[in-house]
Amino acid sequence: MDYDVIIIGAGPGGIYAAYELVKNRPALRVAIFEAGKRLDERRCPIDGVKVKSCINCKSCSIMSGFGGAGAFSDGKYNITNDFGGSLYEYIGKDQALELMRFVDGINLAHGGEGTRLYSTANTALKKTCMQNKLKLLDAQVRHLGTDINHIVLERLFDELKNSADFFFLSPVEHVTPIGSSESSKYVATTESGKPINSGFRIQTADGTFTCKRCIVSVGRSGSAWMERACRELGIPTQSNRVDLGVRVELPAALFAHLTDELYESKIVYRTEKFEDHVRTFCMNPHGIVVNENTNGIITVNGHSYEDPARQTENTNFALLVSKHFTEPFSDSNGYGESIARLSNMLGGGVILQRFGDLIRGRRSTVDRIQNGFVTPTLKAEPGDLSLVLPKRILDGIIEMIYALDKIAPGTANDNTLLYGVEVKFYNMQVELAKNLETRHAGLYVIGDGSGVTHSLSHASASGVFVARDILSRL
Ligand SMILES: Cc1cc2nc3c(=O)[nH]c(=O)nc-3n(C[C@H](O)[C@H](O)[C@H](O)COP(=O)(O)OP(=O)(O)OC[C@H]3O[C@@H](n4cnc5c(N)ncnc54)[C@H](O)[C@@H]3O)c2cc1C
Repeated sequence: MDYDVIIIGAGPGGIYAAYELVKNRPALRVAIFEAGKRLDERRCPIDGVKVKSCINCKSCSIMSGFGGAGAFSDGKYNITNDFGGSLYEYIGKDQALELMRFVDGINLAHGGEGTRLYSTANTALKKTCMQNKLKLLDAQVRHLGTDINHIVLERLFDELKNSADFFFLSPVEHVTPIGSSESSKYVATTESGKPINSGFRIQTADGTFTCKRCIVSVGRSGSAWMERACRELGIPTQSNRVDLGVRVELPAALFAHLTDELYESKIVYRTEKFEDHVRTFCMNPHGIVVNENTNGIITVNGHSYEDPARQTENTNFALLVSKHFTEPFSDSNGYGESIARLSNMLGGGVILQRFGDLIRGRRSTVDRIQNGFVTPTLKAEPGDLSLVLPKRILDGIIEMIYALDKIAPGTANDNTLLYGVEVKFYNMQVELAKNLETRHAGLYVIGDGSGVTHSLSHASASGVFVARDILSRL
């Protein structure tokens, strides 16, 4: 065997798995294959001057490379089982929280010391939310900020590069169990029904490598590959949900009482009209709104920085509605993509609308945005979101904005900006045992690519968990 363990994907899931493996067993031969670039080579060409919009690079520096999708993120590590994934369903609530705290400790030891840990425990805001038909979810939030998050990743890479082999710009093409035929028809199985194999063959454009154990951590950008790999390996999958909505941007002062105390408040509202759940997501106090490119479709997201010099006067957050589909339709991501495509078709990218224009049933224009009191932090095409978002989703978002106005007066002001669409795609759910192992003994799937997690903290915790499972069996 070339390696004891091969990890596919150097996002948080892969990084923390590698870290736990090599820290505990320095002699272990570990390799990490990553489709994207090294952290110091990751650069999105959009500069707002020469390159104004996405040019569909072969490897998207925002989503791929060392650090994964989280590299330029706000670095909010939420320590909670209430959101961010369902890891606790596999490994139990206590262990999931313990691992998230463990990851927090690693982050602090690699540059995160001094960053603040926010908490919803004992906050009076919970009662205020309840009194206004809103629910504040429980969490502790470590906010690294985009800049410190980058430093933590740099330091982790500096340490890991001496103990593990990194292969960048090396997307894995196929994973094949050694000892099985090259198809999903297994040669023999163990008593528990797992195919017997003596390792895995990892095929890339530059060659084939072998390993005893393989951890797949390909994240959201690897979803199409993951689907194909599961088909090739005979691993069952299930469709997941899609979250659709808008990103709200308003003066930071309006949300300061929430963000100063909690930084990120996850608030859920149940709509009166359809009894749908609408929730706040990814809150960025004094942050900026950014474009996100998923398979060539431009959607919206947000960042914020710890460094006061890079902070703005606005706060942004998403309002999302989850859509689950039942028979006969199962392509929830396809549904989300179609709606995002529609916004791209009408606006050439993300559409921007003032809340006041949306309520009056008219599009926003450059003049109306310029005359408003909130200066957008993202250059987006003024337009009409009611032509893009389905009525049920839009009605839910409008209801929630009025509900938030009761706990943060001013949220429903005419000048509040809405960017659309924000889509949160989820990978399909890969069939996994409680230890995150597939039906092939020694082949694990972790992080967002598994459909089990959808956050930095849960993805990282799943990496540590699987590394420990492997170490206990080697
Ligand atoms: C702009 C943005 C902001 C975010 N902010 C936050 C936040 O503040 N807090 C939070 O909790 N979450 C946030 N998230 C989500 C968070 O980044 C992800 O949940 C997390 O990165 C998932 O980690 P992962 O390791 O599972 O996958 P990823 O981080 O997606 O990493 C997967 C890696 O695998 C590589 N890969 C894919 N296919 C292959 C292949 N075939 N061969 C080799 N390599 C492959 C990819 O290039 C990628 O680098 C944000 C996401 C974005 C895009």
